Amino acid sequence: MDQNNKEKLEHVRHTLAHLLAAAVLETYPDTKPTIGPTVDNGFYYDFEFSSPITAEDLKGLEKKMRKILPSWKEMVGKEVSPDEAKKLFSDNPYKLELIDEIANKGEKITLYTAGNFTDLCRGGHSDNPAKDIDPDSFKLSRIAGAYWRGNEENKMLTRIYGLAFATKEELVKYEEMMKEAEKRDHRKLGKEMDIFEFDDQVGPGLPLWLPNGGAMIEELERLAKETEFKMNYVRVRTPHIAKDALYLRSGHLPYYEESMFPPMEYESGKYYLKAMNCPHHHKIFGSRMRSYRDLPLRLAEYGTCYRHEKSGELFGLMRVRTMQMNDAHIYCTEEQFADEFRAVNEMYIKYFKIFGVEKYVMRFSTHDPKRLGEKFVNEPELWKKTEDMVRDVLIDSKIPYIEVPNEAAFYGPKIDVQVWSAIGREFTLATNQVDFAVPKRFDLVYTDKDGTAKTPLCIHRAPLGTHERFLGFLIEHYGGNFPLWLAPVQVKIIPIGEAHIASAEKIHNMLRDSMIRSELDLSNDGFGKKVRNAKTARIPYFIIIGDKDMEADKVTLENRDRGQVGQLSREEVLAQLMSENKERR
Ligand SMILES: [Zn+2]
Ligand SMILES: [Zn+2]
Repeated sequence: MDQNNKEKLEHVRHTLAHLLAAAVLETYPDTKPTIGPTVDNGFYYDFEFSSPITAEDLKGLEKKMRKILPSWKEMVGKEVSPDEAKKLFSDNPYKLELIDEIANKGEKITLYTAGNFTDLCRGGHSDNPAKDIDPDSFKLSRIAGAYWRGNEENKMLTRIYGLAFATKEELVKYEEMMKEAEKRDHRKLGKEMDIFEFDDQVGPGLPLWLPNGGAMIEELERLAKETEFKMNYVRVRTPHIAKDALYLRSGHLPYYEESMFPPMEYESGKYYLKAMNCPHHHKIFGSRMRSYRDLPLRLAEYGTCYRHEKSGELFGLMRVRTMQMNDAHIYCTEEQFADEFRAVNEMYIKYFKIFGVEKYVMRFSTHDPKRLGEKFVNEPELWKKTEDMVRDVLIDSKIPYIEVPNEAAFYGPKIDVQVWSAIGREFTLATNQVDFAVPKRFDLVYTDKDGTAKTPLCIHRAPLGTHERFLGFLIEHYGGNFPLWLAPVQVKIIPIGEAHIASAEKIHNMLRDSMIRSELDLSNDGFGKKVRNAKTARIPYFIIIGDKDMEADKVTLENRDRGQVGQLSREEVLAQLMSENKERR
């Protein structure tokens, strides 16, 4: 969508939030509207109702919105004094609070009116709602409770969500995608497929990986470790806790303290659970004299971190309080930076191929020269140089990217990697950052060719993100039908009767000897049930052994997606599975 259409849609969504409030007030006149922003699939509005409404009531409100819409031929804005605004909203404490806030900031107060409805608003609407908004392109989708201003100590309001798109077709497409996403919901499939579990006594946001999840994690780590080894990374290990001194040095304290677990008092010191691996890795870099010959130094670790997330914001594997990160820090010279950055991108592309991610985009956040020394570390030359290099590499490698000015991290440009799952839902999986400032904070130096001490650049990168988020994504992406190499159980062996058990055991042992995750079904279930069980468990291959197979000294191989493969010798089955497994197909 181009910028112009994007803005138009934003205006439509915003206007619809007003329209919703108008419909609510016509239907329930003593309701107090509060705020109604847009979101990336539509809009919502928070209300204080005098008596509760339910999801059943949304249809009626939606109808009312469609009824009012044709009469909204324009939205007229007007600047008013704080007192005038307060008079209009005298019975609405929420609006009064907002008006005071705007006035205290010295900003203008504007009211917008369409039809009989006036709201406090900054503007940004459709010029002619009746004409610009297709009445079939929006829908009220659900209601939820929401605290005023997101604060648990405030009153609980009722939030009404609406979906809104430019056309009816887009709305229908979005709803179909969400229906499919519901079927593939990682929380649902994660339970059904015995991948992970949460337990109250362990604590919210702390997933337990069941054996199936454990097997998948091992495969992801194998992939990362192999890839990183071949690209000359070295692996390190660091503890899960550290003294406050480390985080004061890194600047996580006090700036990041809210996101960290509270400290433990121990041996008259304070210890924190690790919220990031970087400070530990910096200490490893700094623990030895380094020369330009040692660079680039690429320190990798599947590090476990802990973050304090509000309980209301926890969500399956997507928002958790512990995470295992595919982390690495690359320390390099300025001259080496472009090549290192290019290699990191190549790693992404390699992973996208393996996982069949077809659509992705890199969001490249850059600095604003006007805010150097305030929002961005004051290194004008370095900003320009590295941003130019990053941009060149992105263009060179033909990687789709968008540049977002003024959104870089304090200490360097940032690249967020956005991917789309097989059903078209967008995920932010990983962030890469270039770091000018922290190596200096840690006094990290290397001796250059001319004998002088120089500060290295640092690239933070985590292409596979965290196990939690990445597996959450993969569960939806594959809908649970994992490729052979990633599937927790790779082969199910089903002997038809007693007489076939010995032969089944033989191939089972052969496969396990070659590290194929094979399982033998010796349950009392009938043959049909056994096959059905293997299919509902989404196991990629199953092997059936009956009389005919015994006579031929062979087995029958079937594939989850392709159906019957054929009658093969044990050696042929083994060779086929091993090659498919190795190629990660
Ligand atoms: Zn507005
Ligand atoms: Zn880092």
